[in-house]
Amino acid sequence: MKMSTLFTRTDKTAKEYDTINATLLTKAGFVNQLMAGVYTILPLGLRVLRKIEDVIREEMDAIGGQEIKMPALHPSENWKQTGAWDGVDVLFKIKSRTEKDYALGQSEEEVVTPLLKEYVNSYKDMPVAVYQIQNKYRDELRAKSGILRGREFGMKDMYSFHETPEDFLKFYEEVKGAYKKIFERLGLTAKVTEASGGSFSKKISYEFMVLTDAGEDDILYCDKCDFCINQEIAGDLAECKKCGAKLQKAKAAEVGNVFDLAQKYPKDFEFSFTDASGEEKYPFMGCYGIGTTRAMGVIVEKFHDENGIIWPENVAPFQVHLISLGEDEEVKNESESLYKDLMEKGVEVLWDDRDTSAGEKFTDADLIGNPIRLVISKRSLESGGYEVKQRNETESKIMQQQELFDKLIRS
Ligand code: ATP
Ligand code: MG
Repeated sequence: MKMSTLFTRTDKTAKEYDTINATLLTKAGFVNQLMAGVYTILPLGLRVLRKIEDVIREEMDAIGGQEIKMPALHPSENWKQTGAWDGVDVLFKIKSRTEKDYALGQSEEEVVTPLLKEYVNSYKDMPVAVYQIQNKYRDELRAKSGILRGREFGMKDMYSFHETPEDFLKFYEEVKGAYKKIFERLGLTAKVTEASGGSFSKKISYEFMVLTDAGEDDILYCDKCDFCINQEIAGDLAECKKCGAKLQKAKAAEVGNVFDLAQKYPKDFEFSFTDASGEEKYPFMGCYGIGTTRAMGVIVEKFHDENGIIWPENVAPFQVHLISLGEDEEVKNESESLYKDLMEKGVEVLWDDRDTSAGEKFTDADLIGNPIRLVISKRSLESGGYEVKQRNETESKIMQQQELFDKLIRS
């Protein structure tokens, strides 16, 4: 993409928010705040979000998840059926001009359970897992953590239904495995954290926590093994339950979680199935969330420096930030043909073809944070090629075209 055609621009003087993610994402032109907790995702931001979503999609499909898209506007009856109409404080409620009540989806058990009831009649129809990637709406009291806590935000939510608790547990473990892969691919280290199972389950749930001071959770973790527990349920626990070492305290952001819902929702919606002996039973259900926009914010919290964002390769908006310097005809022609060649080879390039100063081009490249900066100038051409620098390194290197192609097309 040519930067001269991008309708957004970087704004170094944009307002400073309480959090690094909101400040950097705004200054660099990835998001734009409409009001507290509600953001427009701009072209650069959407490229990142789509990459995050695609990683999640691949891993959900790999364990048999089937993608659907449910509505965000729900009839109040479904929420009354489960007790959540009055029980869930973050639920946005809408009254229509005909005095009918609606809810905006803050989670979708109330839609997915009656939906699957229509299709699952027999034990032969299970296990089944459906997921969606969709915006959620929550009347959060404080929305001060940038895109880590929105009132409208992106989520992947999956729901599974099983004949037996054993079958549920087997799938639960598969999802945990898929989540580990997802966060690794996104460049994040997520700790699998024991947490409360919620109001209707005595069981624990697992939260995937990334250590960051921008997070709103307090966790206790063991640095000798992988044990980790949310302080909410830790009581006065000081030593690791697995290996006895002293637990460390840290702030963390929850990027995902997996939940054992047992038979709560199937019972609420009278969703039963016939087992092999002809008996009517309720399925066992699980739900599995990942905050897609929160993950994007957490990545920025983890990967930045004083000059801007440093995107991990898998989620960067572009692999290459190409800068052409000066008015020289040879530089212009060389840039144009390199831009075309790279795109033909499937390399994603953001070409700063604007008529602005070298200084501004360099600061913008650092702020936006694509992994590789490529400079074409009279000087670089005289030295035989292009000046290549990684966003996370300080030294640049002159590369000839073939060497550059080898590097980019291999990576
Ligand atoms: P939190 O404790 O942070 O409020 P939650 O327990 O309410 O999270 P879930 O309802 O299970 O979270 O939602 C699934 C995922 O959606 C969370 O793990 C988190 O990554 C993300 N998420 C939850 N609330 C928000 C929000 N207000 N803004 C952005 N992402 C969110
Ligand atoms: Mg919440």
